[in-house]
Amino acid sequence: MHRINETHAPELRSWVGSANVKGCDFPIQNLPFAVFRRCGSSEPFRGGVAIGDQVFDMRAVQASGAIQGEAAPAVAHAAASTLNGLMAMGPRAWSALRLAISRLLREEVPQDERLTDCLVPLSEVEYAVPARIGDYTDMYTSVHHATNVGRLFRPDNPLMPNFKWLPVGYHGRASSVGVSEQRFHRPRGQAMPAGAQQPVFGPCQRLDYELELGIWVGTGNALGEPIGIDEAERHIFGLCLLNDWSARDIQAWEYQPLGPFLSKSFATTISPWIVTMEALAPYRCAWTRDDQDPQPLPYLESQANRERGGFDIAIEAWIETSGMRERNAGPARLSSSNFRHAYWSIAQMLAHHTVGGCNLQPGDLIGTGTQSGPTPQEGGALIELTSGGRQALTLEGGETRTFLQDGDAVALRAWCEREGAIRIGFGECRGEVLPARD
Ligand code: CA
Repeated sequence: MHRINETHAPELRSWVGSANVKGCDFPIQNLPFAVFRRCGSSEPFRGGVAIGDQVFDMRAVQASGAIQGEAAPAVAHAAASTLNGLMAMGPRAWSALRLAISRLLREEVPQDERLTDCLVPLSEVEYAVPARIGDYTDMYTSVHHATNVGRLFRPDNPLMPNFKWLPVGYHGRASSVGVSEQRFHRPRGQAMPAGAQQPVFGPCQRLDYELELGIWVGTGNALGEPIGIDEAERHIFGLCLLNDWSARDIQAWEYQPLGPFLSKSFATTISPWIVTMEALAPYRCAWTRDDQDPQPLPYLESQANRERGGFDIAIEAWIETSGMRERNAGPARLSSSNFRHAYWSIAQMLAHHTVGGCNLQPGDLIGTGTQSGPTPQEGGALIELTSGGRQALTLEGGETRTFLQDGDAVALRAWCEREGAIRIGFGECRGEVLPARD
């Protein structure tokens, strides 16, 4: 687990003035990675680091020769069109690169040594999915979400008996993972209406979002060699936001016995920026398990995990309907919660994922599952906030929603703040629903 070091010092300021504005997502203490190019250009995509309202272009930084020594091989990988090479290098290289970038961006760098030519305004860039995702897994680690949704799907048996013993997950589709600003057509599929004798086929009627974090695997493991819980975080490059769009009517009909299939595979949207595990070090918290609940089996148990396995990350979901856009009204907040409520930690998810010998590879993506909090207002999906579509939400401006309509956009946001540390943010994960294809 990463320690607090000079890159986290709250007094650090950058010569990029916008990074010093209170409440900014990307102060010099954050330094998240994305893959970008100038909007609409034919430039190659390459790695970049967010600083204030600018991107620090890793290809330009590498070309400048300003990064030498231990971090030099890392900046070469960060300049590539995907971050898989950087992810494969491991925490020592990631840390060396972070330190080098932090030092290049500090306020005390003399005027004539500042790499101003390596900056591109955030407002002028577009993003790519930051790595070639070999495999995408989605977990199910919020006991509140599992209970709320389970109650709707199975009123007599909301929480399956395995939930408190293992981090439940399923293998999702990597091919339909898209970066923020993804627009996708409402899926069509089979659903079984209540009381009907046979299913109907057509556009999804109960389209939902899911408020999740994405975990980017850094270094992988060899097939057959599990990752122990205390080594797990050394294999994680960082976290992003993730929206696991879900077709609830299709899901309800298809999910037994093998779990979600087409109800989840049509689109998954991620935020472009990956906040590294090192940047998150100041915001760690204890991971706890209620005494009344089953305690983890040995391969999921660790003192370090108990002490620092959790992360205090505030998360929010917002909706912007086409009506709001027409009225020039801002988006409306749907819910807010916190990742510290997760029933299983990141280290436990990774240890469980590999315990049978499954190999993870650099650039694999693991969704945390919808992160709902303990109160009804903290539901991480519309199915929870509307009690399965029975109680419509009234949005600012008077519109109502049970599930998503065509033209709706959903934006996820997240940030960390703690006394004695500078607030860091994740940027935005936004996606928009287009009408179903004919
Ligand atoms: Ca999910």
